[in-house]
Amino acid sequence: MTDPSAVLSRPPTPKPRPRVVIAGLGDTGMLIALRLTGVADVVGISTRPALVSGQELGTRLVDPSRWERTYVVPHRRFRRLDRVATIHGRITASDLDANTVTVEHADGAITVEPYDVLVVATGASNGFWRHDRVEGVDEVEAVTSDAAVRLASAPTVAVIGGGATGVSVADNLARHKLARAAGSSVHLFHSGDQPLPGYHPRARSWIVDRLTADGVTLHPGHRAVTPDGFRGDRMTTEPIEWSTGQPPFTADLVLWAVGGGRPHSAFLPADVLDEQGFVRVDAHLQVPGHPNVFAIGDVAASDPHRSSARNWGWRIVVRNVRAQLGHGRAKRFEAPEYRWGSVLGVQDDGMILVQPNGKRTRVPKWIAERLLVGAFVDRVLYRGLRPTT
Ligand SMILES: Cc1cc2nc3c(=O)[nH]c(=O)nc-3n(C[C@H](O)[C@H](O)[C@H](O)COP(=O)(O)OP(=O)(O)OC[C@H]3O[C@@H](n4cnc5c(N)ncnc54)[C@H](O)[C@@H]3O)c2cc1C
Repeated sequence: MTDPSAVLSRPPTPKPRPRVVIAGLGDTGMLIALRLTGVADVVGISTRPALVSGQELGTRLVDPSRWERTYVVPHRRFRRLDRVATIHGRITASDLDANTVTVEHADGAITVEPYDVLVVATGASNGFWRHDRVEGVDEVEAVTSDAAVRLASAPTVAVIGGGATGVSVADNLARHKLARAAGSSVHLFHSGDQPLPGYHPRARSWIVDRLTADGVTLHPGHRAVTPDGFRGDRMTTEPIEWSTGQPPFTADLVLWAVGGGRPHSAFLPADVLDEQGFVRVDAHLQVPGHPNVFAIGDVAASDPHRSSARNWGWRIVVRNVRAQLGHGRAKRFEAPEYRWGSVLGVQDDGMILVQPNGKRTRVPKWIAERLLVGAFVDRVLYRGLRPTT
């Protein structure tokens, strides 16, 4: 017969920790992964073994080595990532009823990863600089340097697309090129009256003046014809044709920043995606019908501008995943009406932040650089980075 006191004194079997899978360790996935290890076993799956941050393509293409120092951070440098199981690979399928994702690893192995909570943070492609192919840090750097060399040596460059990316490239390139080579020209073609759709009207007027002063030739009202199947994912040299009726334009090099973005969501079932393939989410950034699946960042149809990355959506997801696991209460995501942020990146005269109300704040260069490479990003945002080796 069992001694009842022995049964009473047996230590309780520890409850298994929930497993959270983060799909994509980019700007948002990384911030979330680093903050959930206290309540769950976290698995981060990403096509790159490094965080390749940011949307500001202009500074990346005029000064790649400076950009790499700040914005390409190998996973091994994140101290907190030691507590996360990382997989270098690509998610190719998911079963949201069985709670699993299928991963093709960089070395070719295939595994099925179970989850209690899935966070989809796989972003979107919007040109040759952003895609969902599996690659290493060397490839990221090689693509950037190659594009920078080609752009620097092309006398006439045409940038197609008046969103933040196109504007950033055109402006940075113009100031860089015009300062160095006589006879260079940079043209920005965009379909509306002013660049920066989605930004406050005051910000849009400011950018017209700024681009003009910096030497960019603006071509409003131009909508380029894109050949069938071409997604703007390489630079071209052929004459550009316009569906808006203007004569074709020939440049030595054409950079396509036509926006729209192709969401990296092909591994998800169609019923959780909108017509364009972005992941449907509710105000808690949860996928309707799947309370244990969240989506965030450029892949998430969170608001008309899909702006949950820059509007602190990652904080909401951290909080709401914790709530889903029984810790605290959930919170709603809210986005401002207009886009905001830095458009041109850090310049010699500082970094201009455009506000949702159209006002601009200039952050002095030394403060901007300290924010980007110093205490705030290293210690606060990323919870500790190891020095570069
Ligand atoms: C704090 C903060 C401030 C910001 N400020 C600005 C600003 O001032 N100006 C501005 O323009 N923007 C700003 N942004 C926004 C910004 O640059 C983009 O919106 C952001 O990079 C999008 O992040 P993401 O995580 O959605 O995608 P990404 O950073 O693109 O990450 C997606 C990751 O998923 C990987 N991936 C893709 N498919 C798969 C797959 N099938 N399997 C596994 N991995 C996959 C990709 O390789 C990539 O690593 C800011 C963002 C943040 C977080």
